[in-house]
Amino acid sequence: MRKHVSIGFKTKSRKINFLKGELSMAKMTIRDVDVKGKKCLVRCDFNVPMVDGVITDENRINGALPTIKYLVDNGAKVILCSHMGKPHNIFTEGFGLNKKEKKAVEALPENEQAAAKAEYIAKALKNDPKKFTLKPVADKLAEHFPGKVTFATDLVGEDAHKKVAALKDGEIVLLENTRFDAGEEKNSEELCRKLADFCDVYVNDAFGTAHRAHATTAGIVQYGFAPVAVSGFLIEKELKFLGNAVENPVRPFVAILGGAKVADKLNVIDNLLNKCDTLIIGGGMAYTFIKAQGGSVGLSLVDDEKIEYCNKMLEKAKSLGKTIYLPIDTATCAGFPDPIDAHVDIEYYDSFNIPADREGLDIGPKTQELFASAVKSAKTVVWNGPMGVFENPQLAAGTNAVAKAMAETDATTIIGGGDSAAAVAQLGYADKMTHISTGGGASLEFLEGKVLPGIACLNDKH
Ligand code: ATP
Repeated sequence: MRKHVSIGFKTKSRKINFLKGELSMAKMTIRDVDVKGKKCLVRCDFNVPMVDGVITDENRINGALPTIKYLVDNGAKVILCSHMGKPHNIFTEGFGLNKKEKKAVEALPENEQAAAKAEYIAKALKNDPKKFTLKPVADKLAEHFPGKVTFATDLVGEDAHKKVAALKDGEIVLLENTRFDAGEEKNSEELCRKLADFCDVYVNDAFGTAHRAHATTAGIVQYGFAPVAVSGFLIEKELKFLGNAVENPVRPFVAILGGAKVADKLNVIDNLLNKCDTLIIGGGMAYTFIKAQGGSVGLSLVDDEKIEYCNKMLEKAKSLGKTIYLPIDTATCAGFPDPIDAHVDIEYYDSFNIPADREGLDIGPKTQELFASAVKSAKTVVWNGPMGVFENPQLAAGTNAVAKAMAETDATTIIGGGDSAAAVAQLGYADKMTHISTGGGASLEFLEGKVLPGIACLNDKH
């Protein structure tokens, strides 16, 4: 029987839970609350790619439809919100450069920095309003829910209040970009208090931002302004598949990690070693492990500062009775291809004996077989990060081989976002995987074993 929870749910227990950093996988969903006539504030991920106000990929909108449809069908007053890009908070105070821009400016000689900063700001001011408005998303939603969708030109201002007040049961309003308000990313209590007017039930369905404690992703619940907080169907699915695969895997559990640098995945390696039976390491990050074991890796990507860490992980695996597989043969080139998809002359070498003038850029055929057979023997496989420079068709064989092995097994197969998700989609294997996570950064933090604020804040299922 479905369990309905009254709106007067105690927020205190949830707050304590959050502060303790506990993360239960069993979270209440929209099915567990009576939403009829209730104002449901739904945090979506409508951060879709747009060119000149035209949406170029509707996947994220389509992904949100089941949750919205359920709420509409069950008579909720549906109030949707989302961020869109990084609009620098131009409509409020707190305007500044984003992280990428800051880095680019800091890399310049000191006497050029002020001018570069001014240029970025001028460009942002010129582009932002059009580029970052959610209006095109509202138009798209209106095609799915004809006659039911309105758009508010602000987040908590006059227009939002007017549109929310006019909502009938089963109707939808999309609020303007949450990041147009500086309070969003600052997780301001003041903004959360204002949002509370729109929130009998808080619904989080944005896994991609669940690792951030912003006002609409967690703050509104953390500050106690949401009487009840539940997940939508997208987050429910992430917890069911990604969450269960890591926390309650059917064994043997094989984890595969690739990508460029060891430094980016230190905590993922550490956490997954605790959970999995076999850890496969490919991609650029494998060479630091190989060097740590005394191998010669030529020009391959190595992070000398992390050699000690790699040795620690190898020892940890031994003491836990876990297996770590490293590449045994490697596709090498004379250097990194420039441009990235340029034709390359490949020579294969034993991964531990790469000549000084060659760079390892993909796993070789013997390694592909080794990794594929490990996948075949698994009951659960989680994969994050490509096995080589897959952007170059000649160096995509290793990544393809892992994707194919995963597509062919009956095991539960989970792709943890980012480049591996793109590779799987590009190869046409997407519908052969059990689950492809929608959150790049969020799924990585999940694999690190971190508590995601946007999930921790939701009510536990009892
Ligand atoms: P995301 O966080 O987006 O999911 P990811 O975890 O899939 O990314 P990254 O750590 O960003 O992976 O690394 C992906 C990059 O690693 C690719 O651009 C690929 O070309 C590069 N890469 C893979 N193997 C090598 C290698 N042997 N040498 C150098 N670069 C490599």
